Amino acid sequence: YKRMVLASRPKGVVSPQNFRLEEVQAPALKDGEVLIRNHYLSLDPYMRMRMEDVKSYAAPQAIGETMIGGTVGEVVESKNPKYAVGDKVQGMLGWSEMGVSDGVMLRKLDTTHVPLSAYLGSVGMPGMTAWYGLTQIMQPKEGETIVVSAASGAVGSVVGQLAKLRGCRAVGIAGGKEKCDYVVNELGFDACVDYKAGNLVDDLARATPNGIDAVFENVGGTIFDECVARMNPFGRIALCGLIAGYDGEPMALNNVRNILTMRLTMRGFIVSEHMDLWPQGLKELGTLVATGKLKFRESVAQGLESAPEAFIGMLKGKNFGKQLVKLV
Ligand code: NDP
Repeated sequence: YKRMVLASRPKGVVSPQNFRLEEVQAPALKDGEVLIRNHYLSLDPYMRMRMEDVKSYAAPQAIGETMIGGTVGEVVESKNPKYAVGDKVQGMLGWSEMGVSDGVMLRKLDTTHVPLSAYLGSVGMPGMTAWYGLTQIMQPKEGETIVVSAASGAVGSVVGQLAKLRGCRAVGIAGGKEKCDYVVNELGFDACVDYKAGNLVDDLARATPNGIDAVFENVGGTIFDECVARMNPFGRIALCGLIAGYDGEPMALNNVRNILTMRLTMRGFIVSEHMDLWPQGLKELGTLVATGKLKFRESVAQGLESAPEAFIGMLKGKNFGKQLVKLV
């Protein structure tokens, strides 16, 4: 089967040369192991940080090894009594058509009411990220205004919809009219600011007439700065991601004074460090998706060969919704 390895570390912007496709033999299974055919591979912004050899919350991705990544697929061979051939599972098998797991990090999936791919999106890590930041850090009350950047994406789309279900005014920020229309008309946000339209300050002010009570930050840079400038006293900021800076752009925060004068709370978080809350969050998210109350959209690239280009595109906002690679 084929797998994609990290060939070299990016200098600045990621390029296709940083990846290499390899053909490998499926190994014979040891007791306790299962062989999985991956149906979908998840592409996520955090992978950009792992490609670098810098101190972070997780160890860097090794050169010459399969690119890290979440996967959903089907058990095709099993020497583990907990998993049978045909079981649908979610794992971390990386950018690879197949993979072997010892069963420890696998999760069996029920695809009766939730499509398989959604377990990599709204009912998976990105959904949990939204759920955690909203419920644990932003803690919005009914009637409050929340703002989320990268609003049409895997995480942002869930943040706004969960906030609406809790009676908030949900405002998104996204790149382009098409994404903004989708955020308002399909996802049901109250407003969405197109930061590419060139009137960020005025448009954000119009969308948040009563100021901002809580921010879910995915992007950083000017977008974040202008949100901080509009925050109400005792506002909360869930600092989730800084995607605008992942390729090396500096991230300044000019309105830092507002953190003091408005007595704001800002907290960064890494969703994988809060596994204790995943069952609770995923239960809520799964029920919402199954009952049609939580909508999502996917950008699906075809075949492992397309993964580098799709990944590079996602870092530039070419994706529209959760970025996946379909392998089967
Ligand atoms: P998305 O599906 O939102 O895709 C990324 C989006 O980011 C793009 O579509 C684009 O949307 C936006 N973007 C990219 N570059 C820029 C830029 N320079 N300026 C503004 N917007 C940009 O990805 P996810 O939902 O998976 O991830 C969103 C964020 O959440 C990321 O920052 C990620 O690192 C973070 N994250 C953090 C986790 C944690 O545990 N802390 C866990 C999971 C994700 P647009 O076209 O609208 O600009």
